[in-house]
Amino acid sequence: MKDVTKVYDTGEVKVYALAGVDLELYTGELSVLLGPSGSGKSTLLNILGGLDHATTGRVWFRDLELTDLGDRALTRYRRDHVGFVFQFYNLVPSLTARENVQLVTDVAHNPMNPAEALELVGLGHRLDHFPAEMSGGEQQRVAIARAIAKRPEILLCDEPTGALDSTTGVQVLETLRNINERFGTTTVVITHNADIQRMAHRVIRFQDGRINDVTVNETQLAPSEIVW
Ligand code: ADP
Repeated sequence: MKDVTKVYDTGEVKVYALAGVDLELYTGELSVLLGPSGSGKSTLLNILGGLDHATTGRVWFRDLELTDLGDRALTRYRRDHVGFVFQFYNLVPSLTARENVQLVTDVAHNPMNPAEALELVGLGHRLDHFPAEMSGGEQQRVAIARAIAKRPEILLCDEPTGALDSTTGVQVLETLRNINERFGTTTVVITHNADIQRMAHRVIRFQDGRINDVTVNETQLAPSEIVW
């Protein structure tokens, strides 16, 4: 993205959620976005994922300029290329784990089998469980299975461990890292937990709608190797 701004105009005040951001994400990279609450991280992620429009500036996925696309084309971009994981899992309570994943695989071009996606996140033994029968960490792993089942090139995660205790959070982070390593999925993880940065290839720090620091990690730790 090049010189991206996002301005919320609430009538009385203008909020510069993004105040001019240049960022290039690389194929296969796992990057972590760190920064205080309100610094613009979610806004950036939503623009990257085609959920929201920039006010000014330009955004590309490879040769596709997202900032040129209308809503239908953006929907196609999201469907074909992007997986999302949010803090709250957004599973359908009346559907089993397998059926929740199937909602996505039914409309994807070259999806995994739902059971295969659930195996990958360590839930091969929970295929027919309903969300209420699973722990928070398991539900989040169902949400990850749902996000990866269409084999997206990009996986965008907004505070994926925000609602979990630290042990469960580590399992979820291990899952994300395994997916990144195994499939080369370009992964962006928003967090305000500074410890998570040690598993990333690159750490991007936000402040007041701007990137104020970028660090490349020479070595990445597995989440289970990090002292939390
Ligand atoms: P972060 O993810 O770093 O917590 P956000 O991207 O959610 O930050 O928000 C950046 C800024 O934009 C904040 O000041 C927030 O209050 C403001 N903001 C976000 N969404 C809206 C909205 N829909 N309307 C008005 N202001 C918003």
